[in-house]
Amino acid sequence: MSNSSIYGLTYEQLQSWLMEHGEKRFRAEQVWNWLYKKRISRFEDMNNVNQSTIELLKENFVLHTMDVELRQESKDGTIKFLFKLADGNVIETVLMRFNYGLSVCVTTQVGCNIGCSFCASGLLRKSRDLDSGEIVEQIMNVQKHLDDRREEDRVSHIVVMGIGEPLDNYKNLMEFLYIVNDDRGLNIGARHITVSTSGIAHKMYDFADDPIQVNLAISIHAPNNELRTQIMKINRAFPIEKLMKAVDYYLEKKNRRITYEYIMLHDVNDHKKEAIELADLIRDHRHLAYVNLIPYNTVDEHIDYQRSSTENIQAFYETLKAEGIQCGVRWENGADIDAACGQLRSKQIKKTKAV
Ligand code: SAH
Ligand code: SF4
Repeated sequence: MSNSSIYGLTYEQLQSWLMEHGEKRFRAEQVWNWLYKKRISRFEDMNNVNQSTIELLKENFVLHTMDVELRQESKDGTIKFLFKLADGNVIETVLMRFNYGLSVCVTTQVGCNIGCSFCASGLLRKSRDLDSGEIVEQIMNVQKHLDDRREEDRVSHIVVMGIGEPLDNYKNLMEFLYIVNDDRGLNIGARHITVSTSGIAHKMYDFADDPIQVNLAISIHAPNNELRTQIMKINRAFPIEKLMKAVDYYLEKKNRRITYEYIMLHDVNDHKKEAIELADLIRDHRHLAYVNLIPYNTVDEHIDYQRSSTENIQAFYETLKAEGIQCGVRWENGADIDAACGQLRSKQIKKTKAV
């Protein structure tokens, strides 16, 4: 018996699979309706589907490949889930509530090989990629949790900003995006989905060539190579010039706004001179640029880094504005529950190891 998740198939993949197994074309629509609109937890509950089809699906697919290991709810309504995968690895997923809707932050890899010097996710090297089913299942589990609590709201936004580098797991990422965006399923608008990358330049070309209209965010964090390499060693492989060439290509193909994420690290990258340098870097396409200033969440292991003071964050913001750059400050959600990228997972693993 195979244990692959049925959530890992795009609509077309499921349709071909069903037809290869002697089923009628319309079955795919029925099955997707049960999976994504009615959100069943057992194949048996698909009560307008033949018993033989149900058996066929049960023999080949599963609806659950992960269990909830831990769930933490913050005072502001943010919910953090720690999921245990079939192989025992744990990943994390966060639900955030905004005035514009419910947003889920998903994980794409177990650990991360990019190893940025400030990040909790990079403390543990990547042990494997998640497959598309495991990424979709994170959304389904969060949605089902809301359904169980009789919350009527639906997950309306997705940010691919959890553990891992999404463009380093490209095929599964793209399948995931097509599955959640499909209007026969979850129907989450492409414009409500954001993929964040540390700047894997050659994959950004593929991403630009793909017709899906999701948003792109780039973790820039420093405006020059010296400083960027110091905090993100990936900058050696993809220095700022290479990255900005890929940005030019993306903008030419897509003509869509790019978000630049900039972590505010005290006395590292938060001076006025870096704000001006950053403005210079993106000035040429500032109508398609938005800078998101992210106050750093301290990570116990990274003692060299502290969060910039509120005054410095404000001053950086003012400088960018004065330079004509669109920007904002992302004040965090779920501060009381370790909601920063990879933090809960790394704490949980440390706890388990300590026992
Ligand atoms: N690997 C991708 C996506 C996951 S990280 C990337 O790096 O873009 C998502 C965002 O969270 C990135 O901008 C990352 O730099 C930021 N981040 C990581 N650790 C953080 C921390 N401790 N405090 C604040 N932001 C953090
Ligand atoms: Fe990986 Fe992103 Fe963390 Fe860097 S910031 S280590 S790329 S998850």
